[in-house]
Amino acid sequence: MNTRFGEFGGTYISELLVPVLQELESSFKRARRDPKFNSELHYYLFEYAGRPTALYFAERLSKKLGGARIYLKREDLLHTGAHKINNTIGQLLLARYIGKSRVIAETGAGQHGVATATAAALFGLKCEIYMGAEDAKRQSLNVYRMKLLGAKVNIVDSGSRTLKDAINEALRDYATSFKDTHYVIGSALGPHPYPTIVKHFQSVIGKEARQQILKAEGRLPDYIVACVGGGSNAIGIFSAFLKDKGVRMIGVEAGGRGIRSGKHAARLSGDGRKGVLHGSFSYVLQDKYGQIRETHSVSAGLDYPAVGPEHAYLHEQRRVNYVSVRDSEALRGFHMLSQVEGIIPALESSHAVAYLPTLVKKCRKDAVIIVNLSGRGDKDVEYVARIEGELA
Ligand SMILES: *Cc1c(COP(=O)(O)O)cnc(C)c1O
Repeated sequence: MNTRFGEFGGTYISELLVPVLQELESSFKRARRDPKFNSELHYYLFEYAGRPTALYFAERLSKKLGGARIYLKREDLLHTGAHKINNTIGQLLLARYIGKSRVIAETGAGQHGVATATAAALFGLKCEIYMGAEDAKRQSLNVYRMKLLGAKVNIVDSGSRTLKDAINEALRDYATSFKDTHYVIGSALGPHPYPTIVKHFQSVIGKEARQQILKAEGRLPDYIVACVGGGSNAIGIFSAFLKDKGVRMIGVEAGGRGIRSGKHAARLSGDGRKGVLHGSFSYVLQDKYGQIRETHSVSAGLDYPAVGPEHAYLHEQRRVNYVSVRDSEALRGFHMLSQVEGIIPALESSHAVAYLPTLVKKCRKDAVIIVNLSGRGDKDVEYVARIEGELA
């Protein structure tokens, strides 16, 4: 198995963990070929999480934007409200397959923590979640949700008390607990083999979308658009089309308050540089000394200073075009899809939606576009109401 995508990826990690990750890689390779593992995975994705998700033709949105036939891949319809459950069901089954009785995970806003705690409850594994104190304060309801699901939540008080500090603590836990514990990483990030494992479990999105669009349109799409935080929903849908030269792909990063403001999370489309974070060589937002910069986005799920290594590779290969969308534009996308289609998208997914007016302007009238709607916006409604002055 390749440990890198071009020069990106790798395993930049304490030597204590090297044999652990090697064992994880070989177990994953075994599981992936095991019909019993695959039928279990299929069973829970379809019977529990709600797959397959619809590929919905957004007729009113297509009309409004004037040209192009726009389809939405409805990952927002999954149990817990986003694509993250594809990965946590996969990794929890993998943990069980290799005989681990406990899982740990990091979480930023709490979405991955909730998805991990959900799968842990489903499979009866012990679960501990690491979350920065700042994030826990902002997302207290998700802290309670995880507890409700039976997880223990460890609040991290070091550093900037956010996601990257939570990852550091989770890695520290893993270094001493790996005998009985699996570390569930939440995106296509981290040291090898995680980016490959997460891509594998998210690739179901692209496989379905490919069949569905062939059935609906009798041909492949011209464009696929997805938002990119760590990059798991994007690589999940892109993966089924990477070999089709005619299919153009667009990854939308968080432009925050604009690239020049420095307050953003545009690693590939902004001013990220090559560097190492959390075990992987990729594009990272850093200062001139190589220290990790603070990032900003209206959507917590896109607010991370590094990007999955395969995206760094696809960027350098020019196979995927990475662009950024600002907070204010994302909010317009959030309102537009709500009003035109009756679908309230997650603020992360709103970034992909918000890029559509720009894309439609420059593509052919009969172009077919698929947008990966990674999650639903219920979690964001109160926050948007607050920042727009609808709530005190
Ligand atoms: C977490 C999250 C993302 C960002 O993560 P990726 O790994 O880049 O997909 C995007 N959309 C939603 C709804 C999320 O919860």
